[in-house]
Amino acid sequence: MIDLKSMTPEEISGVLKELGAPAFRGKQVFAWLHKGAACFEEMSDLPKALREKLGEHCFITVPKVARKQVSRQDGTIKYLWELADGNCIESVLMRYHHGNTVCISSQVGCRMGCAFCASTIAGKVRDLTPAEMLDQVLFTQLDSGLEISNIVLMGIGEPMDNLDNVLRFLQLVNHPAGMNIGMRHISLSTCGVVPGIRRLAQLKTQLTLSVSLHAPDGETRSKIMPVNRAYPVEELFAACHDYFRETGRRISFEYAMIDGVNDQDWQADLIASRIKGMPGHVNLIPLNDVVESPFKPSGRIAAFQRRLESHGVTATVRRSLGGDIDASCGQLRRKAMEEAKRGEKPL
Ligand code: SAH
Repeated sequence: MIDLKSMTPEEISGVLKELGAPAFRGKQVFAWLHKGAACFEEMSDLPKALREKLGEHCFITVPKVARKQVSRQDGTIKYLWELADGNCIESVLMRYHHGNTVCISSQVGCRMGCAFCASTIAGKVRDLTPAEMLDQVLFTQLDSGLEISNIVLMGIGEPMDNLDNVLRFLQLVNHPAGMNIGMRHISLSTCGVVPGIRRLAQLKTQLTLSVSLHAPDGETRSKIMPVNRAYPVEELFAACHDYFRETGRRISFEYAMIDGVNDQDWQADLIASRIKGMPGHVNLIPLNDVVESPFKPSGRIAAFQRRLESHGVTATVRRSLGGDIDASCGQLRRKAMEEAKRGEKPL
């Protein structure tokens, strides 16, 4: 069976040609899929015979809302989606002044092993297809009735570990005949997979690259982020400097403040010296308490921010949204999995 929603209009035309239909139908089918059509029957401007043929050879992904939590504090909505094979992933809709932003997952689980992160505890199950990433944007918009203007690839999974599918997803969601969300409205976050950063730099896209730094020194970083053993922080910064030279785009460094681990002044000094030469921006994040992790939130955020700024590095503190609804990555999926295991609530 063919996954039509993971295809461009031209590729869909190719499939239609094989089925004996004219190429111009490709754009029509693409438009229907990107409006959220759940079956070929709905595609009322296609001949009935073609709709039937499509149904025999192709499928359309439609995620089910397994759980939905709406924050009473700030209107943040967290979705747990059930995919066709029964796996579950999360997306979060955040309502910012600059527009509604959806945070989407790129994999079912994650194999990067960051010590403070809930998404990676049970490892990676599989990559998401381009259609499954698009669906998170599309069905969040349809279900909530809120127009999505921004996307961040910061949910479950490591986008650089599924880069082919991620790039195709970007092409689809950016398409004028589809959701038409501009690259400048999209951010991609990586834990520091250097070859992925280098590949993205070559493509010279206008998206915003976020790098989850969390420690500027190799010793600390290797302890909390195993990826640092494969791609040491020196190589990571070299790739970031090259990325800026190639694309002219400022990089955002994510930094979750962990008590006594990465919150010391000398670490702020080291961040500043490594960023020197490019307009980096550091986003300080109050650590989310993950039940399974030994790390505690740091009380030094304001002092660390001042220290960075004393070196001329811009640093902001991330406003936390959805604190009342398990909105931080991986937590809802984990909770639902644990509850299902204990037989409490079916997924
Ligand atoms: N794999 C990608 C994207 C997903 S994680 C990456 O690593 O960037 C999204 C962000 O949440 C990353 O910056 C990640 O390091 C951060 N994060 C994970 N667990 C966290 C926690 N307990 N508290 C605060 N931020 C956390």
